This record gives sequence, C-alpha cells and structure tokens, in this order.
Amino acid sequence: MTYCHHGPVVPCRAWYDEPEMPIELLGKSLDELRAFAVSLGEPAYRGAQLYHCFYAERQFDFACMTALPAPLRQRLAAEASVTLPRVVRRYRSADGSIRYLLALSIAAEGADAAAPATIETVFMPSEGRQTICISTQAGCAVNCRFCLTATLGLIRNLTAGEILGQVLVALSENAEHLAPRTNVVFMGQGEPLLNYDSTLAATRILLDPHGVGLSPRHVTLSTSGIIPGIERLDGERVRPKLAVSLNASNDQQRTQLMPINQKYPLAKLIDACRRYPLRSWERLTFEYVLLGGFNDRPEDARRVARLLNGLRAKVNLIPWNPGELPYQMPEPAAVEEFRSILIDRAIPAFIRYSRGRDVMAACGQLALIEQSVAATQSAPA
Ligand code: SF4
Repeated sequence: MTYCHHGPVVPCRAWYDEPEMPIELLGKSLDELRAFAVSLGEPAYRGAQLYHCFYAERQFDFACMTALPAPLRQRLAAEASVTLPRVVRRYRSADGSIRYLLALSIAAEGADAAAPATIETVFMPSEGRQTICISTQAGCAVNCRFCLTATLGLIRNLTAGEILGQVLVALSENAEHLAPRTNVVFMGQGEPLLNYDSTLAATRILLDPHGVGLSPRHVTLSTSGIIPGIERLDGERVRPKLAVSLNASNDQQRTQLMPINQKYPLAKLIDACRRYPLRSWERLTFEYVLLGGFNDRPEDARRVARLLNGLRAKVNLIPWNPGELPYQMPEPAAVEEFRSILIDRAIPAFIRYSRGRDVMAACGQLALIEQSVAATQSAPA
C-alpha cells in the first residue's frame, strides 16, 4: 500500500508503469467509431474516416491514414489498436484454395484473456468470384457427430472484430488477384447463432455499402438449426442468407448425427423455416451430407422431399469424404438417385464435392462443406 499525506492511496496503474491497454477498434460500428472520435475531443466525422479506412480500404496502419491530421494519427498509434487475426500457417490446395490457420489475440475486447485460440478460414477462388469461409467461435459446443471441430468443445466466442477480421485478412492476403465478387459464408468453426450478437455486428459491417460493401445475396449463415436464433434473425433489417444443416430425413437419424436435434426437433425446425420471411430474391438452403448406407437411401430422399414440400428452398447434397470419422462414402449412383428424387418433386438439388481435399482433410466441418459453401453462392437463389 502506498501512503500520501491524506492516508493510504489506492494504487494507480500509471504509478506502476503499466501502460493502458490500447482501445481495440476493429469490429466497431460507424456509430461506435464516431463516439470514439468524440471521446478523443475530435469531430465525429473522424470516426467515419476510420470506418472507411478499416473496412472499405483495408488500411490498418494509422501512420498511413493521411486523411487524418498527423497529431491524431500519433495519438491513435499510442492509444488505439487494430488487431487482425495473425496468420500462423497457410495450406495451399492444388485447386487454388487456401486454408489459413489464424491465431486470435488474447487481448481482444470482450475475449476471455485466459483462452488464446486458433481458428480456420478458407479462401476459395473461382471464376469471377472468391468465397471466404469464416469461423464464429473457436471450437463448438454443438457436438455434431460428423464434425471434427466438435471434438474441441467450445473454446470461446469470437468478437465481431475477430469474425470480420478473417474476411479482411483473406482479402488483404490475396489482394493482387481478387475477382470482382466476394462471397462470405459463416460455415467455419462454431455455430453462428450461438454467438449471435457478434455475428450480426460483423454482418452489418460486411453488408454496409460504406463498410466492406458485400451484397446480402453473397453472405450466407449456416446453422445447425438453433430455432431461437432463426426466429431472432427474421427480425433483423440487415441479415445474411440462411442455410440449415439438415443431414437427415427423420428425427431418429438426425439425433444420432446431431444431438442438438433433441432440443430442436425436425418438425419445429422446419416450422421455423416456414415462418422465416424470405426476401423476394431469396431461397433457404438445406445442406445434406450424404453418408453411405446411413441417410442416402431413396426413402430418405422421399422423406426430405416431404419435409421441404412447399418451402422456397434448395438442397445441397454433399457426398461424405472418407476421413477420420467412421462413415462411408455414398455410392455415386445413390447420390444421383437421391438428387433426382428431389428434382422430380420440384426441389432444386445440387451435388457439391469438397474442394481442396489435399489440404482440408483434417479440417472438421470445413473439410466437408467448402464446395457446398462456394456453390451455395453460385447456384440460383
Ligand atoms: S458442424 Fe458446425 S455446429 Fe456442428 S459441431 Fe461442427 S462446427 Fe459445430
């Protein structure tokens, strides 16, 4: 305890040479950055300039933000930070996909400082566009049986800045050969609707014409079927497209694959999908991983068709890849038959094969669905 002439003094951080933590700005909305500028005694429009630099220009070094006065740049460098996820490793596939292993900062605002974590982000280039598959949580609590991420359990939720930062890193890393269109899919590690607020905060910046400026047609959120999240999403003014990981044709099968089905069973899930207010151009996407001999029979296809009857939806069929988990590849003929049963019942169905098999093999959910993800955006809405 320190004493002054008034008596004991509560220790002050500055006395101990401990620098103040810089304020993390990545992930802040336009309003938050304007308020931040005002808190520094600057006009609010300085916050708008920062917003433009980070999200539209992908400029993260205060020293290079020449629209700002030099004293402000110096002050920002001392008092604020813009922390992108750090690239730990790049896995390049022969087909051009790059899987990034990214380290999160333990000091990120809102993050649990005791839990440093790595996540995965996938960049998939194709004709006229790139698709970036991002994570919303480190690990995942949902425990789908076909997913390696599930074996991690939930490590922690990502902040809005960490979610958005994955897109900014992937775009910056590939800046020299970007196609005109960018798709983003929330299909990496984690259940986005169980990290709702950060996922939506990141989405609003991604979809803001003054922010990252993506089209709502090109941003898709994939859920394991968290009904309260779906219901909450339908009230959002700005929202991504919705994809639901179906993977089974009845409750018994689905509960075996996705224990979350006990909490949110198929009938209630499909009901929530029926109530979901689609925009005029929009369809729901249902993802269906075909596991040989388990959920790939003609009667499964007929049940799926009955479940989805009347919904404005399409189905992405994803033949299982042999991997570390104990399931089998479906026979090509079974995949084809499944698809034609859906098509015959007026349900658009597409077969999606994984991209980047050479580097994605141990990647849990990512290994299963990248191609579905990329193709989700290329198929008619
Ligand atoms: S498939 Fe998605 S929701 Fe299911 S455990 Fe894996 S990351 Fe979580």
